[in-house]
Amino acid sequence: MIQQTCTKCKVTKEINEFTINRTKKSGFESRCKTCRNEDKREYRKRDHVKVKERAYEKKYRKENPDKLKVYNKKRWQNPEVRAYKEEYRKKNPEIFKKSYRKYKENHFDKYTVTKHLIFAKENGLRADWTREEYNDLVEFFNGKCPLTGDTEDLSVDHFIPISTGHGGTYSGNIVVISKSMNLRKGNKNPFLWADTLKDEEIQGFIRMVRYLADKNNMSPEEFKDYVEGCFN
Ligand SMILES: [Zn+2]
Repeated sequence: MIQQTCTKCKVTKEINEFTINRTKKSGFESRCKTCRNEDKREYRKRDHVKVKERAYEKKYRKENPDKLKVYNKKRWQNPEVRAYKEEYRKKNPEIFKKSYRKYKENHFDKYTVTKHLIFAKENGLRADWTREEYNDLVEFFNGKCPLTGDTEDLSVDHFIPISTGHGGTYSGNIVVISKSMNLRKGNKNPFLWADTLKDEEIQGFIRMVRYLADKNNMSPEEFKDYVEGCFN
């Protein structure tokens, strides 16, 4: 293997200890990676550089969202980066929790869909729900629980509960209803459970069933038979 002597620490090292730099005659940096990183760190500590760098980064991020995505993805595939981040996460659980919360808020649809896809997959059930379908569903019911009309504290419900070993996470088996309704519904047969609903809630239940039947290319009656079958 080729070797080179670092101009800073004067140590002769394997060539892979030097960053590739096509503008140099040798094709590599003259300082070894360790020295170069040290110099960079020192340089970045200067106040005027800090300010300049931050402004530049901010501008770059704003102007190149796609490039950034590709860059981050590539970076994340590097096992060294992963190991470093994992270590950082362990050392700073609070910071990680905060950024995770932020991610959840900003990408709520992605987060919700992914979580429920994993849940169905783990149970060996169909899992092909998409973010678009999630957003369509929410829009269809105007962001409200079809049963209560609530706009807050909503949650994803598998109409045919996962516990039956049927259904799964797909557009024809998912509704977004209020958390309290979801708790009440639990693992029950939804058509038997519907008997406990108030009159105005039943109207919403019928709308929900029509919506799901439609997604399954069934009539509401066919859909009901299908669901009942999952409980036998
Ligand atoms: Zn060196």
